[in-house]
Amino acid sequence: MASPLTEKEVNRLVQLLNDEQSEFLQRYLKQSKKSKWLEKLAHKKGVVLHPDTSIDEAWDQLDDWELKEILDGGYGNRPYTCECGMALRFCYIVHHRKENKTYRLGETCLGNYTMMSAELIKDITNGFHKIDLERDGILLRYEQGWELPSVYGRLPLAEELKTQIVIGLPLSSIQESRIEKRFKQQLIKIREQNKWHRLAQMKGHHPTYTFQPVASPVSHSTIQSITYEEAMSKYQSNINAINESLPKITDLLMLRKYNHLQNMIKALKQGELVDESKLLSHMFELLYYLKLY
Ligand SMILES: [Zn+2]
Repeated sequence: MASPLTEKEVNRLVQLLNDEQSEFLQRYLKQSKKSKWLEKLAHKKGVVLHPDTSIDEAWDQLDDWELKEILDGGYGNRPYTCECGMALRFCYIVHHRKENKTYRLGETCLGNYTMMSAELIKDITNGFHKIDLERDGILLRYEQGWELPSVYGRLPLAEELKTQIVIGLPLSSIQESRIEKRFKQQLIKIREQNKWHRLAQMKGHHPTYTFQPVASPVSHSTIQSITYEEAMSKYQSNINAINESLPKITDLLMLRKYNHLQNMIKALKQGELVDESKLLSHMFELLYYLKLY
């Protein structure tokens, strides 16, 4: 796994994401940390939570400190205050149901106010750091131009993962290994089929077209830029045809291309530079896929 990035580096990389991607990432990280907290606490108390147990029921059962919220004041800011008086960027809001107490704490003070054991707090904060490393991996993959393994496009993935793929946010290596494990048998089958398909193509039995890489960071020096008006006068009818066929797009990779194309058009509308060749490659792949070309 990648070495931990500094706050400054994380901030620089997050700036590369669009709003949709950065909001998704924040939500994913918060959710992961809340689950990690619950998991460590349950483990420590020797409570085995049934997969059907709701979060609410779990906390009633655990009768302990619950992580309600993590606030992030943003890079360079310390707008929150720990119970001890220290200014904080990250503030953990913890709540105890039975005692009806709520504290706003920094990571270093978590143990002091909750009376949770030092060992448990260390376990939890270690877990948090692993989640931060996972975030760093996702950001680095985004910057370096990561490609989704195309076989994943055919898997019945969970809705959250589908969304992550469609909005063009790379999967972490942890998420990838989870998918590989969960769909092991299906992946073996799909990869085997693909191998035979490629062999058949090499023997010239089938026509073929290649997939262009998506979502690599735009280098401004090589852009053949186009304006919104130019793009619309040339491609409006094709883009309309694609939009009308949206319900027919079932492949995740194609949904991702569709989302990317929409973002390019949005950017054009706002007067930003867009690489015409990239716009064309997405548009034509969608047209081919939808048999509109
Ligand atoms: Zn404190």
